[in-house]
Amino acid sequence: MHELGLVNYVVKTVTRIAEENGAKRVGSVTLEFGEVSGVVPEYLYSYWNWYTKKFPLFDGAKLLCETIPAVTWCDNCRKTYPTVAHGKICPWCGSGETWLQQGSEMNIKQIEVE
Ligand SMILES: [Zn+2]
Repeated sequence: MHELGLVNYVVKTVTRIAEENGAKRVGSVTLEFGEVSGVVPEYLYSYWNWYTKKFPLFDGAKLLCETIPAVTWCDNCRKTYPTVAHGKICPWCGSGETWLQQGSEMNIKQIEVE
């Protein structure tokens, strides 16, 4: 149900921005989210298609998704590495003193209005 909440949030936010700008229709919304954010794009698309039908502002609005790669920083050797491939253990020095630098976020990147 994570994705449904997300779609709800995006629709609310975009509606507010569209109203502020006097837009009549939303053409597309581009979301970007991290590789380890837990968001499943397939669910997003299906909730989007179902949920936006209720709003004339979103008639035919497309949802576009972009992925932000997950990157972990190692405090011990001060290098970064791809999180998905290596998890919490640094592949350079074997340290566990690591933290996620990016990859769990979700942003509305771009909104196209007409
Ligand atoms: Zn390291």
